[in-house]
Amino acid sequence: MDSEGLLQCPYDKNHMIRPSRFPYHLVKCRENNRHVAKVLATCPFNARHRVPKQELELHMQTCESKCPLEPFPDEAVMQKAEHFSSWQSPPCEENWDEDYSSAPKPFVLNEFGNYQPYSSHDSVDGQCAPGSV
Ligand SMILES: [Zn+2]
Ligand SMILES: [Zn+2]
Repeated sequence: MDSEGLLQCPYDKNHMIRPSRFPYHLVKCRENNRHVAKVLATCPFNARHRVPKQELELHMQTCESKCPLEPFPDEAVMQKAEHFSSWQSPPCEENWDEDYSSAPKPFVLNEFGNYQPYSSHDSVDGQCAPGSV
């Protein structure tokens, strides 16, 4: 009844395997087709991935090195151009704001400057005593 989701074995077109069993079948079928699996292909997304040529197509669908979010070049350029021409407040700008407010480095520096006289308080004790704090 769930024959629709069956996957075709890359080693034998007559093998139709359920997705859940596919990895196991692949291992077994690879053993039975060593002469075929010996021919390795290099993954186009990562040159370090070497998979049996029969499985390359399969691998490309699941390769972790391929970038699924990569848009079409034309589209990316157009989007960027749009952002630049109507330069209002891109969504990513908000994140920067947050970063800044959570790390007020300039203020820390100022405070440090204020503390300087306090550290030399000993020598100027008589002149500018804090008096009532
Ligand atoms: Zn098979
Ligand atoms: Zn790969």
